[in-house]
Amino acid sequence: MIEPNQFRRTKIIATIGPASNNEATIEAMMVRGVNVFRLNFSHVRQYEVPLATIGIIRALNKKLGLNTAIFGDLQGPKIRIGEIENGIDELVVGENLIFSTEPCVGNAKKVHLTYEDFPKDVKKGDVILMDDGKLKLEAISSNGTTEVVAKVISGGELKPKKGVNLPNTNVSMPSLTEKDRLDLEFIIEQDLDWVALSFVREAKDIDELKAIIAKSGKDIKIIAKIEKPQAVEPQNLAAIIHATDVVMVARGDLGVEVEIEQLPILQKMIVRECRQHAKPVIVATQMLEGMEKGFMPTRAEVMDVSNAILDGADALMLSGETASGINPPNVIEMMHKIIVTVEQSLYEYNYKGIPTQQGDTMFVADSICYDATHLAQRISAKAIIAMTASGYTAQKISSYRPKAPIFVFTDNPKLIMRTSLTWGARAFLYDAFVSTDATVKDVIDELKAQNLLEVGDLVVNTGSMPIDLKGSTNMLKVSQVQSGDSARH
Ligand code: PEP
Repeated sequence: MIEPNQFRRTKIIATIGPASNNEATIEAMMVRGVNVFRLNFSHVRQYEVPLATIGIIRALNKKLGLNTAIFGDLQGPKIRIGEIENGIDELVVGENLIFSTEPCVGNAKKVHLTYEDFPKDVKKGDVILMDDGKLKLEAISSNGTTEVVAKVISGGELKPKKGVNLPNTNVSMPSLTEKDRLDLEFIIEQDLDWVALSFVREAKDIDELKAIIAKSGKDIKIIAKIEKPQAVEPQNLAAIIHATDVVMVARGDLGVEVEIEQLPILQKMIVRECRQHAKPVIVATQMLEGMEKGFMPTRAEVMDVSNAILDGADALMLSGETASGINPPNVIEMMHKIIVTVEQSLYEYNYKGIPTQQGDTMFVADSICYDATHLAQRISAKAIIAMTASGYTAQKISSYRPKAPIFVFTDNPKLIMRTSLTWGARAFLYDAFVSTDATVKDVIDELKAQNLLEVGDLVVNTGSMPIDLKGSTNMLKVSQVQSGDSARH
């Protein structure tokens, strides 16, 4: 029997949308275990709506004593076609379609495309996909200024405002559009926990966003959405993982931009690379899609969620299931049950990963994190307790995937929220940095008071000594939980 509050290592992200954007539903989802909410700015036209949602989540966090975090997902350079006469037409295989950069109400002969420089950037033979790849065309000519002629390869219904993917074209649009910049301003003002950047192509896309956030003085981290073929080229991927704080395998667009059968291997490769570099990684899109309209997921969806967990994802994301589905809290309950069951029965807590090599800046701290997980396994510790100011230690320990829960103690409230995305970790506020002895005792007492530890349990502590200098991790220690108010050191 799975308890709703049973310890779960893999985190759950839920997208807010019309089906969930009210206090009762948000509360029901939080109670069932959502760790992070996603606000999708593709659908935001006026800021009153996300403003109210953020207010509700933050008030519920206070009421329920939770740390449910929030990220804003920027639309990025999403390309769309315009309106279609009578709302629908039919694209016939072998016919030509003109893409015009000049606004017009379209039909099966000509459509408007929201990408000014397409006629300059396109090459003969480039593939043009529409409506999640349902329609496929091939560019045959361009006048270089306003029009591109393309031949229909796979036809079907042509509907208004559908998304367009250009997997072979070197899209020259900036990674931050004017709308993104306005949305980003709002996200910064609201001090959300992360901002997600769509259609990341290379690390410099992230550097630009980082510079804007740094200028604001806010501590907002970045999620890089991997959904372009350029981003999965080995050198680009390595540089993106290095530059970003979190990675998302955005399978929706990625599955259109690359051949769909490549998705499973790409997912495994991206997750492995992220864990290797201790960067949290999210697997997203169509995880429990059957629950958008029904009460149960399909068998294939349950298998997909389980496989993403076994691949080692830090977090799994729900999109339409919670944004427009029939019963968002039910979806969270199902996701929780699948994760807990996999973690209890199949998950290989592997303590693998390569600690940073001698000579690297974080060599000592990384080695302590690595050894903390092995020590915890050897002595069957009930917890690894990490004191951290930056969160680095928590992420590093988490990347080694220990079975023992990771309890993070920090004086940084932003880090408490961000831990919501870190596999196996839970964070607590602690700001009394008197002495190592006193701190070890305090944090164990706190966990005992919250029924997270029992008398006799062994725990592994990591931290930095002297404690008041708040340096990087240089201390590893074992304590046993004592009766009364003190731990034996
Ligand atoms: C995706 O493409 O999988 C994704 C998460 O991005 P969006 O929902 O913004 O298209």
